[in-house]
Amino acid sequence: VKALVRKIHDYLFEIPPQGRMRVPARLFIDERALRELTEQSSQEWNALEQLKNVATLPGIQKAAMAMADIHPGYGFPIGGVAAFDPKEGVISVAGVGFDINCGVRCLRTTLFRKDLEGKEEQLADTMYQVIPAGLGSTGELKLNTKEIDRVLREGAHYAVSLGYGREDDLTYIEETGRLPDADPSVVSNTAKQRQLAQVGTLGSGNHYVEVQVVDQIYDAEAAEAYGLELGQIVIMLHTGSRALGHQIGTDYLPFLDKATKKYGIEVPDRELVCAPIDSPEGRQYYRAVMAGANCAFANRQVLAHLVREAFWKALRVPDTAIETLYEVAHNTVKFEVHEVDGERKRLLVHRKGSTRAFGPGRPELPERYRQVGQPVLVGGTMGTASYILRGTEQGMRETFGTALHGAGRAKSRRAAKKAYPADEIVRRLREQGIIVRAHGKASISEEAPGAYKDVDHVVDVMCKAGIVARVARLRPIICLKG
Ligand code: 5GP
Ligand code: MN
Ligand code: MN
Repeated sequence: VKALVRKIHDYLFEIPPQGRMRVPARLFIDERALRELTEQSSQEWNALEQLKNVATLPGIQKAAMAMADIHPGYGFPIGGVAAFDPKEGVISVAGVGFDINCGVRCLRTTLFRKDLEGKEEQLADTMYQVIPAGLGSTGELKLNTKEIDRVLREGAHYAVSLGYGREDDLTYIEETGRLPDADPSVVSNTAKQRQLAQVGTLGSGNHYVEVQVVDQIYDAEAAEAYGLELGQIVIMLHTGSRALGHQIGTDYLPFLDKATKKYGIEVPDRELVCAPIDSPEGRQYYRAVMAGANCAFANRQVLAHLVREAFWKALRVPDTAIETLYEVAHNTVKFEVHEVDGERKRLLVHRKGSTRAFGPGRPELPERYRQVGQPVLVGGTMGTASYILRGTEQGMRETFGTALHGAGRAKSRRAAKKAYPADEIVRRLREQGIIVRAHGKASISEEAPGAYKDVDHVVDVMCKAGIVARVARLRPIICLKG
C-alpha cells in the first residue's frame, strides 16, 4: 500500500484515485502514523482500505478524508469525513456509525482544583450512584412510546421541558440539541421499545463522565471566549443514542441493501450499502437518523442534569455553577454549505468518528464563540490528557470544517482485553491520582490508555496541519465508565 501513498506535506498524505476510486483518499497523519497504518493493515484491521472504498462512492466531493485518529470501523474508517453532492451522492449507515450522534458535552464549573481536594472519593461515589451506566442499565426516566416520539422530534428541548437542565444549555449544543428533519414514524417499534427506560443513561465501554482540570492554556483569547482558566474544573461527558440509535442502524442495513441493488450502486464492501440521497429510501433513512440524533441530544441533556445533581449531593455545588461550554457530536450526517472549487455548495457531510470543527464566522456557531471558532472537544483516555481545540478557516477549506474526535484506537477491543488486566489499570491510574469507577471490568481493559494512540501526538498532527488550533489541555481526576 505504501508505494501508492503520496506525501503532500509533513502532515498530509494522499492516495491518488486508482481502480474505482472517484476521488483521492487523504490522510492527516505523519510518517510514523502512516507506517503504523500500513504495517497494521490486515484482513480485520485495515482503515486504509476502508478509506479507499469510501472514495469509490457516487457523488463524493473532493476526497475521502481521515483525521489523525483514524482506525478501522464498520465500512467507513473511524476518524473519517465524506461529503456528497445531494443530487449524485449517497447516504449510508456506515458513514454515520451505529451510535448515531454519539458526542461529547463539556461542562465548565466555577470550581478550581483546590475545591475538590480531599473530596474526590466522595464525588466519585456519588457520581457512580447518581449516573446510571453499564450495559443495559435503565434510568429514572420511564417513557411511553408517545413520549419517546417527543424525544425523537424535540431532542434536548424535550428533556429541558421535563426539567432536565436549563434553556441556556441549548444555546451551546450543536444544532441547539434538536434536528428539525427527524421523523419518529420511520423508526421501528423495536427501536422505541428498547429506549423506553434508557434515556439518561451513559451506556458502557468508551462512554464516560470525566471530571478534569484545565492544566494548560494555549490561546488566551479563545480560552476567555470559552470561559476557561488554568486550574479550573470541567466535566466531559461522552455518550450517544443508546439502544435506539443502534437499532436504527440495524433496521436500515437491509433496507439500504435493497436500495443499493435497486439503484445499481456498486459498492466494494457490503458494509457500504447506501441509497441515493435524492431517493425515497435515502430520504427515509435520513429522517430516521435525525430522529436517532435527537435521542442522543436528549440523553446528554438528562446526563448533564445528573452531573449537576451529583455535584450538589456530594459537594453542595449549586447547578448554576455548572454551565454547558459546548456539545458536539462525532457520528453524524448533515446538510451543510461548503466551498467546492470556488463555489458555495450544499453537501451532505458524513462524519464518522470525527467532529464538526467550524472556523470563525460561521453562522451556525453561538455568538459567544463565533469570532474564535467552534470548540472542538477531543477525549484522550482516562489516563491521559484530553483537549479543547478550536476550528480554523483552513479546516473549513480543507476538511469541510472537520477534525479529529479522540486519540483513536491503536489496539482492537479484543487485543486490549487480553493485554490490560482491569485491576492493574485501576491501581496504576490511582498512583497517578486518577480515580476510576466502572460498572464493568471489560470497559476498563478495553479502554485502557495503552489501547489508544498518543493523544498529544495526534492532536499535534492536526494542529500542525492547520485544521484545528489548541485552546486548552485537560487532565483527568475522576473517570466514571460504563
Ligand atoms: P469513540 O466515540 O470513537 O468510541 O471514542 C472517542 C474517543 O474517546 C476515543 O478515540 C478515545 O480517545 C476517547 N476516550 C475513550 N475512553 C475515554 C475516557 O475514559 N476518557 C477520555 N477523556 N477519553 C476517552
Ligand atoms: Mn458512542
Ligand atoms: Mn463516541
